[in-house]
Amino acid sequence: MRKRTKIICTLGPASSSAKIISNLIKEGTDVFRINLSHSSVEQTAKIIDILKSASLKQNRPVATLVDLQGQKIRIGTFGTKKHILLKTNSEFILDAALPINQGTSKSVGLTLKSLPKYLDIGDELLLSDALIKLEVTSVIKSKIYTKVIRGGKLKSSQGINKKGGGLSLKGITDKDIKDLKEAIKLDIDYVAVSFVRDAEDIKIIKKIIGKKRIGIIAKIERNEALENIDEIVKISDGLLVARGDLGVEIGIEQLPAVQDRLIRKAISYDKLVIVATQMMESMIDNLVPTRAEVFDVANAVTSGVDAIMLSAETAIGHYPVEVIQEASRICEIAESTNRKVLPIARKQDNFKTVDQTIALAAVYSASKSNIKAIAALTETGSTPLWMSRIQSMIPIYAMTKNDSTSRRICLYKGVYSIKLANIEYVHAKANQQIIDLMLEKGAVKKGDLVMITKGDLMGTSGGTNALKIVEVGKLIEIE
Ligand code: PGA
Ligand code: MN
Repeated sequence: MRKRTKIICTLGPASSSAKIISNLIKEGTDVFRINLSHSSVEQTAKIIDILKSASLKQNRPVATLVDLQGQKIRIGTFGTKKHILLKTNSEFILDAALPINQGTSKSVGLTLKSLPKYLDIGDELLLSDALIKLEVTSVIKSKIYTKVIRGGKLKSSQGINKKGGGLSLKGITDKDIKDLKEAIKLDIDYVAVSFVRDAEDIKIIKKIIGKKRIGIIAKIERNEALENIDEIVKISDGLLVARGDLGVEIGIEQLPAVQDRLIRKAISYDKLVIVATQMMESMIDNLVPTRAEVFDVANAVTSGVDAIMLSAETAIGHYPVEVIQEASRICEIAESTNRKVLPIARKQDNFKTVDQTIALAAVYSASKSNIKAIAALTETGSTPLWMSRIQSMIPIYAMTKNDSTSRRICLYKGVYSIKLANIEYVHAKANQQIIDLMLEKGAVKKGDLVMITKGDLMGTSGGTNALKIVEVGKLIEIE
């Protein structure tokens, strides 16, 4: 049986060839992330073509998640030098007026020219994922004068965060809007919105996407997003716990509690949730993860995340395929050895629609009986989404004729996506088709009970209105 927890693999120079992508899918990647901080929309189009042919060859849908760059503030570069050395207690100037590639050991340029106006004396600035710490001593026009509190090697183009957040910038940039407008012309399945501040940021994205079925994932990586979390989660399709930038803003020691809170928050609103950053970081250079990384992945699984995400490990690391292999194995074992099901109260306890009622009835009752699996015939993917929001161990096989649906459900925890070439329209024949497919996948055996959900009118959206229990090998009703 395949793992329930999904794996998102960030593509980069280490992993973008057709051969590696094919191996990444074989080893258990469900979703591929393309980071627009480092890739272009044209490159994204090429990747999507590779993904399509690999997924067709392996008869396995995979989804694409396009990550917008967002308002990440960075320092400029140091001319031909890759880095400079910053001495603790020395003075260093961040200068918005300095050309972006003319940094020296005394001062460096900034990608955000207006940064000086957001800062006050005493503010703490963290560079390079908090490796370097600066304190603002004065701000004069374009120049931010700082004292180096924690020095070290400062590489070109590193990110800058303010401790405690509060750089009240909008999350979405003009580049994001331009990129998104281009990207939605491609067959993408999810868009991740970086540095979201509030629901307004998501509304901008929603408006651009329009009626296209593209899931919106809000990356939670600044303090303001935590303050507005309820309004953000309600309007998005899911949350991504972006521990890199978030850890810098709120302090890494706050992360475990906040991660747990965000996971519960997303699930309680029937939304998706992803945990990201440094999950298998040491595998950038090593063939095996550290014990701490094994525990981190396993803990995320136990907490009920839909997916764990790999970043530098697969984008620029030495062993992208081995990372997926290890992560898959850890998830699989964590799922099979840990039967702890965390109770999470749903925010909307009244079922609003018929398909939602069927979905929840199916998964509740299946978990409390000897049903071996659920098969959901779906057009939009909403039935398996509802089903997967309940913490249960029952495998859900979502079958659909719709291409984009078959990809989007790849992110749902515990849902195995099966793309159907055609659906039998006579119900008895459809039941047979479903059971045959599940037998072929090794999901069930003779004598097992399977729950099937579908609509009277198969192939129409929102049409699920029937729940049926069949015994494998004992199908009746076929004339
Ligand atoms: P990034 O976001 O990988 O785009 O920086 C994730 C994070 O900040 O953790
Ligand atoms: Mn980030």
